[in-house]
Amino acid sequence: MCKNMPPLELAIQFHGHICPGLLIGVRVAEFVQKHLDISQDYDEELVAIVETDSCGVDAIQAILGCTFGKGNLIFNDYGKSVYTIASREKGRAVRVAQRFGATAFKESERFRQLNRKESLNEEETAEKENLIGVLFEKIMTMPLDELITWEDIELKMPGKAQIHATLQCADCGEGVMETRSHKTEAGILCIPCYQNRGGGSGV
Ligand SMILES: [Zn+2]
Ligand SMILES: [Zn+2]
Repeated sequence: MCKNMPPLELAIQFHGHICPGLLIGVRVAEFVQKHLDISQDYDEELVAIVETDSCGVDAIQAILGCTFGKGNLIFNDYGKSVYTIASREKGRAVRVAQRFGATAFKESERFRQLNRKESLNEEETAEKENLIGVLFEKIMTMPLDELITWEDIELKMPGKAQIHATLQCADCGEGVMETRSHKTEAGILCIPCYQNRGGGSGV
């Protein structure tokens, strides 16, 4: 990712659209950069533990460089707008939570309504554009402590992502990461093939 691009641009380019959730994520990521005195992860120097899988996480990935593919984005499926970011180099971690109801503006509700529609007519499209403008202004300028709470925490850094051996599944012939494979009497099986033979879910 281009390091010279402003954080907001990075996030919008990565996420594909501009929406309130992404903007909140941008504010979280920028706060964390300042608070921990960090920039963007290059090689797993940073780890993000996120408790939601919605739009804001893309800002964390794009701006802080903690990504799903690199393995330094850990997802806990708690359905909470909470982001914990840790820096190995600084030996510090901060837990950031979005305040309940912080962005419950009437414009947010209308934006969600329009977002749910299959298609928008010209008038609605214009209204949505306008709403984004209003919400952008509100979210990007609201005092940080009205939007989020934060707390420095002790965090044992998870180890760097491991690269595991790839084994061949006896049924489909495709490769499967060793730690996700089943060793059965029929040989090594990947999870879908194991399940096709009536095995349980998971590893
Ligand atoms: Zn979005
Ligand atoms: Zn298989």
